[in-house]
Amino acid sequence: MMIAIVFIFGLIIGSFLNVVIWRLHSEESVLTGRSHCPKCRHVLGPIELIPVLSFLIQKGKCRHCGKSISWQYPLVEFSAAILFLFAYLPYDLRLTTYNFFLLAREWFMISVMIIVFVYDLKYYLILDKIIYPAAALVFVTLPLIYGGGISWWGIFGPIVAAILGGGFFLLQYLISKGKWIGGGDIKMGALMGLILGLGGLGVALFFAYVVGAIVGLILVAGKIKKMKSQVPFGTFLAAGTVFAIFFGEKILNWYLNF
Ligand SMILES: [Zn+2]
Repeated sequence: MMIAIVFIFGLIIGSFLNVVIWRLHSEESVLTGRSHCPKCRHVLGPIELIPVLSFLIQKGKCRHCGKSISWQYPLVEFSAAILFLFAYLPYDLRLTTYNFFLLAREWFMISVMIIVFVYDLKYYLILDKIIYPAAALVFVTLPLIYGGGISWWGIFGPIVAAILGGGFFLLQYLISKGKWIGGGDIKMGALMGLILGLGGLGVALFFAYVVGAIVGLILVAGKIKKMKSQVPFGTFLAAGTVFAIFFGEKILNWYLNF
């Protein structure tokens, strides 16, 4: 039962994230105004607002103007639902207030990463408007993670990781005079450190570089992209961050025991 509720909640948040991504780009307000078709501006009715299902029922087309709706919409909704469920599973049946806080925090970080993933992929930009509020919220909730017993390293660790994560990209930015990476990557690196701590940051960066290289090679080999094409690296960093949220500790323990 809870699993179904969490899945549906994830779908709804995914639908909201689509709206956020669209409105950040079109610079409309995220909080006011009703959802509409981006092409004909027809205001969506209740049935058209149902995540994934409405896309399937309407066969991927707007009911009003018949123009096709981007696959981004159902994909983001479905991915959010799966990731929310995946984050929930370790807490299943142990949903105390404290655990719920940890879970909500994790859901928030996953949501931010979905936005960065899609936005950078589509527009080659990591927005300050997303990174700054996200970093602020992750930062102020940091002392609450440890419940009663405050661990100093638990609070300073992520701050040190944020400085190293940001510094890692700042260095590349300075060496390449801004050719390899953009300024957004520096802020993203700092946010990743804050979310993941040192070990998790290492796992996420490793993931982003390895998967980024593999995907890049496939795209170049398939002649879809050229060697010099712009790379939405924020997309890989966001994927790496979600990967490290889920598997960071397990991989580190395995690596340290090796
Ligand atoms: Zn339309």
